[in-house]
Amino acid sequence: MSLIDSYHRRINYLRISVTDRCNLRCLYCMPRGEITKLMHEEILRYEEILRLARVAVSLGITKIRVTGGEPLIRKGIMHFLESLASVEGLEDIGLTTNGVLLKEKLQHIWDAGIRRINISLDTLDRARYRDITGFDKFDHVWEAIEAARDMGFNPIKINVVVMSNINEDELEAFAALSLNNPYHVRFIEYMPIGSSPSHFTPGFIASEDIKQRLERMGVLEPVKKSPHDGPAERYRFKGATGEIGFISAMTNHFCKTCNRLRLTAAGHLRPCLLSSREIDIKTPLRKGATDQELASLFMKATLMKPYSHGIVREQSELFPGEMSSIGG
Ligand code: SAM
Ligand code: SF4
Repeated sequence: MSLIDSYHRRINYLRISVTDRCNLRCLYCMPRGEITKLMHEEILRYEEILRLARVAVSLGITKIRVTGGEPLIRKGIMHFLESLASVEGLEDIGLTTNGVLLKEKLQHIWDAGIRRINISLDTLDRARYRDITGFDKFDHVWEAIEAARDMGFNPIKINVVVMSNINEDELEAFAALSLNNPYHVRFIEYMPIGSSPSHFTPGFIASEDIKQRLERMGVLEPVKKSPHDGPAERYRFKGATGEIGFISAMTNHFCKTCNRLRLTAAGHLRPCLLSSREIDIKTPLRKGATDQELASLFMKATLMKPYSHGIVREQSELFPGEMSSIGG
């Protein structure tokens, strides 16, 4: 059995948000100050996530990415990752983290067999990092990135949300990191979703404009996509060790090749990040649904996938939904 949607797209990638909580407050993702958190019992338990992961794998999911909120702050996460890694049929597990707690967990993550980590970092400047995230943790993240490189994690993806009024002057410095390191630096277009502080209006920059700027540094050669790839357009500077990627959710809808479903921290299947349609799979799961019944909810969610999202960059209001609960 496999998950094919109404537009003939095969779904083989599940992103799982294991918590809506976070130890940072990135300007574009979460409001500062008090936030509404899911109650403990509202969040899927690890054994529930593992069961859903097994059902998903039986339906042709081959790649799972664990995300959040910040996945590394959830108690028991290492044991969970080990259990997830032993799910038969799962070919690829990734982790997306802000990197603050990563360094001390790297060995454990390595031992669980996970080699692909995405680390979010929007600036190489310590003071600016504090302004963006609300916390003085730049050194923690940078040390984790270097330690991951030294241990042999590959690829190490560095996710940079680009905002013209915040970090536009650092694009070249980020790109240069890919020259001699196994870093895949991925520039992400800002998406107007969630609940950023009301005073914050990020300046938008399109991937194409970023690419044109980086082309002044050297020739960017396209890199062929592999089957488990996400939506990034991949490039490499001639002779570089690492790569440059562009995630252009706003300007170059990659919807036609979208291969993913999301499982939110609250236990909902979300067919599209930028559409509020969701299916509650937690309630049936907790009421004793069989694997077959859970599988049919995965299929239903797949068939609900829209052909494309309708968010436009000029959108004046934030699209409803919390990135931290959905998982980005
Ligand atoms: N806390 C982890 C982290 O920051 O990597 C994982 C969760 S975070 C929601 C996942 C990704 O979503 C991060 O790379 C973050 O930069 C990105 N993200 C969050 N809000 C965004 C927004 N409004 N536009 C574009 N990307 C966003
Ligand atoms: Fe936390 Fe990640 Fe959102 Fe930043 S982007 S507030 S680190 S969940």
